[in-house]
Amino acid sequence: MGSKVLVVDDDISHLKLVEAILLGAGYTVQTLGDSSQAMEKMASFMPDIFIVDLMMPQTDGFALIRDVRANKEYDFIKILVLSAKAFSYDQGRAYELGANAYVTKPIDAAKFREQVKAILRNEIKVTFWGTRGTVPTPYKDFLEYGGNTSCVSVEFSEGRLFIFDAGTGIIRLGDYLLGQKKRTKINLLVSHPHWDHIHGLPFFKPAFIQGNEIAIYGTAHGDLSMREVMSGQMESIYFPITIREYAARLYFKELWEGEYLIEGIRLQTILLNHPGNTLGYKLSCANGKSVAYITDNELVPENLGPRDPHFRGKLVQFLKDVDLLIHDSSYFDDEYESRIGWGHPPLSELLQLVKEANVKNLYMFHHDPGHNDEKVAEKERFAKAFIKEHNLDIQCFAAREGVTVTLK
Ligand SMILES: [Zn+2]
Ligand SMILES: [Zn+2]
Repeated sequence: MGSKVLVVDDDISHLKLVEAILLGAGYTVQTLGDSSQAMEKMASFMPDIFIVDLMMPQTDGFALIRDVRANKEYDFIKILVLSAKAFSYDQGRAYELGANAYVTKPIDAAKFREQVKAILRNEIKVTFWGTRGTVPTPYKDFLEYGGNTSCVSVEFSEGRLFIFDAGTGIIRLGDYLLGQKKRTKINLLVSHPHWDHIHGLPFFKPAFIQGNEIAIYGTAHGDLSMREVMSGQMESIYFPITIREYAARLYFKELWEGEYLIEGIRLQTILLNHPGNTLGYKLSCANGKSVAYITDNELVPENLGPRDPHFRGKLVQFLKDVDLLIHDSSYFDDEYESRIGWGHPPLSELLQLVKEANVKNLYMFHHDPGHNDEKVAEKERFAKAFIKEHNLDIQCFAAREGVTVTLK
C-alpha cells in the first residue's frame, strides 16, 4: 500500500484533479470537499500527508493546520498547503502554524508528484560546514577535520532549512545555497554571540539577495535585543556594510528555554553552562528522528564545583535517546584542569553524559584551535575506547568539515 494522503479542498474539480494525479502515483487517497469534517477524517484515516486548501467556507485551512499541529500524535503528518494565494504573507503564516510545504495553484502534475514524493521521503541531511571552536585554523595539518568555525545545516527533504550558528563555515554554506538557486527561507538558530558562532554572517551571500527570507533566532542579552546583538558586529567601525543594507528580509526572533514550532518542525531549547546566555537546540522531526546541537557547554566533573545540581539532570533528560548529538568537545581531561570555568567540557564528562542520555550518534564538535588533525583523531580514539570499555551502543565521530550525515 502506498502512503496515505488526505486532500481537503472546497473546489471539487480541483479536488478530482489532485486525486487523479495522486492515485496515478500509487498513493491511497481520500478526499473531502467539506472542511468541517477534516479533523474527524484525520483521526480515522491517519494520513501520512495532509494536503489542504486555505480559503474554504466551513473551516479555513489555517485553522486546520493549527488544529493538526496542536496534537503531538499528529507530528508525523506532513502538511502541504495547496492554494491559489501566492502572497508571501499567507505562505509565512502557513509555515508559522506548522505547514511543511506550500504549493500555489494551478499545479503542474509532474512537478506536484515530485513535491509530494520529496515531502514523504522524510530525509534529514545534516552537514558540517565549520567544526572548529574559538578561531579559524586554516593550516595544513588542521584541514582534515576543518579550519572553519561553528556552522551546521539541517535540510529536510521537503525543503525546510535550519542552520545552527554562523561561524565562518556559513560562508561556504552560502555558496552552496546560491548554487541551488531555489532556497528562499532560512532559519538560523544562533547558540550565542561569541565571535566563532556569528563571525561568518556578514559574508553570508544569501543575505544580500532580494527575495530571500532569513529568520534569526537566539536569546536577548540583558537589555540588548537579538537584533542589536547580531548587528553590533556589523556597525561601521567594524565592517563596511551594516545589517540594514542586507537585501534579504531579515527577522529576529527571541527564544528562551522552551518548546517552539518553526515551519512545522518542533524545536526545544535549553540554557547551557557557558558565559552569557547560550542556547542548546533540539529539532524533532516528523520521521521520529531528532538532532541536538549543544555547544558551547561546560560539563563540570562531580568532584569539582561550583555546579548547578539540576543542570546535569535536565540536560540528560533533554538529550534522552536523541539520534544525533553534536556537542562541544573542546578539551582532553588533562587540559581541562587548567581551564575550569572557561565554558567547555573535558572529554570524559561528555562521554559520561552521552552514556547517561543513551545518545545514538555522537559528533564531537567545536575542536580546540590548538588541536591539529592528529590531536582530533586522538580524541576520536579516546571516545571509541570509552564506548568499547563501557559496552555502549553508540556511534561516535569527531565532526569533519564537509561531511553530510543522512537520517532516514
Ligand atoms: Zn565557541
Ligand atoms: Zn562561546
